[in-house]
Amino acid sequence: MTPDQHWYPAYVGIGSNLQGPSRQVEAAAALLAEVPGTRLVAVSSLYRSAAFGGVEQPDFVNAVAAILTTLSPAALLQGLQAIETRQGRERGAARWGPRVIDLDLLVYSREKIDSPELTVPHPGIGERNFVLLPLGEIAPDLVIPGLGRVADIPVNMNEPGISRIA
Ligand code: ATP
Ligand code: MG
Ligand code: MG
Repeated sequence: MTPDQHWYPAYVGIGSNLQGPSRQVEAAAALLAEVPGTRLVAVSSLYRSAAFGGVEQPDFVNAVAAILTTLSPAALLQGLQAIETRQGRERGAARWGPRVIDLDLLVYSREKIDSPELTVPHPGIGERNFVLLPLGEIAPDLVIPGLGRVADIPVNMNEPGISRIA
């Protein structure tokens, strides 16, 4: 490690609704610890929720992980996609369809990024209870650029039910 290397805090949303979703989410969290230049700091409880987006499919299991990383946002996204591939995620399947694993970069330090490959903070945070609840569990005082303090963001009353499972 070079002396001036900086460790940036980042938050990753993890979701699965295929092939043993709880096990898939736990495996992905463990693999986050093995991303180069990255440390796993905390993992929330697991939450079960009904799928949204109008596609009939199994319930999702979701969690949020806190990491510290020396990687750039783009390199971190590549690391997340490598984990998805390793767990058998098929690229090119319908967005919001069933998937064995989904790793989304929710927040990267105080950065705001809007490129074709990467939007940070992730645009779904404010309306997704399956992000807000686990994130609120591990980082209630986190201030998200454009959204404010996590614990102050109201839960989405229009979303189907969610429950903590572990
Ligand atoms: P959503 O992002 O609404 O949760 P999704 O997770 O199902 O949908 P994916 O199929 O996993 O979407 O990803 C589609 C593309 O989204 C990826 O190829 C990636 O380049 C892009 N993307 C943009 N911003 C992000 C981000 N913050 N985290 C992960 N992927 C992102
Ligand atoms: Mg997603
Ligand atoms: Mg994704």
